[in-house]
Amino acid sequence: MLTYQTWEAEEKPSFPHDNETKGALDVLTWAYDEYKDDVVYACSFGIEGIVLIDLISKVKRDAEIVFLDTGLHFRETYKTIEKVKEKYPSLRIVMKQPSISLDEQAKQFGDELWKHHPNKCCELRKVIPLREVLTGVTAWISGLRREQSPTRSHVEYINKDDKFQSIKICPLIHWTWKDVWNYVYKHHLPYNVLHDRGYPSIGCEPCTSPALDPNDLRSGRWVGHGKTECGLHIT
Ligand code: SF4
Repeated sequence: MLTYQTWEAEEKPSFPHDNETKGALDVLTWAYDEYKDDVVYACSFGIEGIVLIDLISKVKRDAEIVFLDTGLHFRETYKTIEKVKEKYPSLRIVMKQPSISLDEQAKQFGDELWKHHPNKCCELRKVIPLREVLTGVTAWISGLRREQSPTRSHVEYINKDDKFQSIKICPLIHWTWKDVWNYVYKHHLPYNVLHDRGYPSIGCEPCTSPALDPNDLRSGRWVGHGKTECGLHIT
């Protein structure tokens, strides 16, 4: 099995991407065959997440999907999760919360930590919880697309993840924004209504605005902080 420890020794599979799902279904089929229950999908329930959930449900009906529930998400995001649960009742959707409550965080680090030290806030509410999840599995799935930002332009289908000492699988690397929406409309998938209100990328409510630049899908995230990633995808 391909693991973080065996990465150098193991041959990595390659996948064609000149097909309907641009390789995504082939990658997912390989991943669930290789890892069975030893892989989780960390889903933000943004639009790419909706596509991946639908594709995953075709390959493994009872796959484990983890949502990093910071306690600071939009009401619309929680509603989206409920709609997804209704559509895919056999998927195991886990709401992973940080061990530190918002009150405790405010006591220890000050009110509204996201305003004055967002990296610390993301560390406490996203990175540490994901590390706890990934400690129990060999690999994880992410909805990164190369087109999303310069920091994501070199992502491969299968990646050695030094940050979490894991294998990170990214089936959607070749999908464009248009591909994502075509798939959602074609299959009548439920999605977060905030996407229709100018939010192409949706994270925690205090750190997400409508996109400032329509050509930069992540330009509404952490506006004014010079921060583009929450820390999950930095190696
Ligand atoms: Fe905190 Fe903002 Fe990061 Fe959410 S996105 S964990 S509110 S800094």
